[in-house]
Amino acid sequence: MKPDLTVSLIYFETSHCALSKPMAGHRSKITPVAAGWPRRRGGLPLEFETFFQTELDALRENGNYRVFADLERHKGQFPKATRYSDNGSTQDVTVWCSNDYLGMGQHPDTLAAMQGALEKCGAGAGGTRNISGTNHYHVLLERELADLHGKEAATLFTSGYVSNWAALGTLAARLPGCHVFSDADNHASMIEGIRHSRAAKHIWKHNAPDDLDRLLSAVDPDAPKIVAFESVYSMDGDIAPIAEICDVAEKHGALTYLDEVHAVGLYGPRGGGIAEREGLMDRLTVIQGTLGKAFGVMGGYIAASSNLCDFVRSFASGFIFTTAMPPALAAGATASIQHLKQSDFERQRQRRNVRLLRERLDAIGIPYMKNESHIVPVMVGDAKKCKFISDLLLDQYAIYVQPINYPTVPEGTERLRITPSPMHTPGDLDALVSALSDLWSQCALSRAVA
Ligand SMILES: *Cc1c(COP(=O)(O)O)cnc(C)c1O
Repeated sequence: MKPDLTVSLIYFETSHCALSKPMAGHRSKITPVAAGWPRRRGGLPLEFETFFQTELDALRENGNYRVFADLERHKGQFPKATRYSDNGSTQDVTVWCSNDYLGMGQHPDTLAAMQGALEKCGAGAGGTRNISGTNHYHVLLERELADLHGKEAATLFTSGYVSNWAALGTLAARLPGCHVFSDADNHASMIEGIRHSRAAKHIWKHNAPDDLDRLLSAVDPDAPKIVAFESVYSMDGDIAPIAEICDVAEKHGALTYLDEVHAVGLYGPRGGGIAEREGLMDRLTVIQGTLGKAFGVMGGYIAASSNLCDFVRSFASGFIFTTAMPPALAAGATASIQHLKQSDFERQRQRRNVRLLRERLDAIGIPYMKNESHIVPVMVGDAKKCKFISDLLLDQYAIYVQPINYPTVPEGTERLRITPSPMHTPGDLDALVSALSDLWSQCALSRAVA
């Protein structure tokens, strides 16, 4: 199953528990009102109001209803923010669950580039890429991305979600008789793209090249095949065995499609991701990424051969029929990528803070999931306690960590997904660790024996 983010809707590839389907066991009927003029409110017949209300109540009962923290981030003071409450009060908080992993959304280079482009070009792109929306900044950004991943070309989309949906959807739909092999923990955006393509889909066990090999062997050797997977998985922070997966894919003549959303900017000497770190970029057919996480801005892309990018650009409705991203975003993302290509400082500081947090948690026996990445999933294992701890962290300790509950993660593995940044100070770390220690005792949660 796979989450999109901290505030993620997730999908279980394996159980098909997609949120676009009725929630199992909670389907209320739309009961027509009695004869006569239908009663309406705001243009909506009342039985629909009742339907929406019932479905939302079911979410609340399960603990799956999502409440967004209303935050205002402070430029230059990452990871600090002001939190607005419904009653109009405000509170200064420290954010520990941002996907702006390196604080690049506030980096002076990013901001200067955005301000410059805003002054030069104005706000919006002015159209779809095809109809007057292609700005020089888009072209520069696509070149920068192709270079980052050692590919001939790159194609931009308005988000990482759209890039997965559109690129996988288009490739799988248009390659005649295509079969897609999808890792069981793949992100919702890939699942939706594959589903939309109507291609045959095979789900292989998470990070298991053997199982992929078994499934690939069962399909017509001449059929086009795509193997779709991620490098760093966002909820467990585990990393795919990319070389082994490429070995298996190559053996069966399959294309490889790698989502590096949680790795770009963060791994590899130039921030090209895990595939760059491991010298594997040229073995991947498509590398997909986001400009919204470590690069701190917004947008998504694929990098691949010129022909593949041109093909997706020419056939993907999610590329063609939507307004291009604002030039200022493209300029900011370009500056952020350029900065992280030559600066390792942010990555080193982030790694140090990740290591320090793990050491401090070990010292007080607070359990977290071990992994090789920058993601520290602190395991609570109970939906109500997880939400409760997160609420108290925010209300009483001014620390914001979003609870991650089912269906984003399996039941019994509810967690706080902590993402230390280069900017968290020793004081921030002390405050987090001591708050967690208090709450662990208060909730009678067990500690690991050191
Ligand atoms: C967040 C995420 C995406 C979508 O990227 P956005 O730019 O946020 O739309 C795609 N894949 C994975 C694995 C993600 O976590």
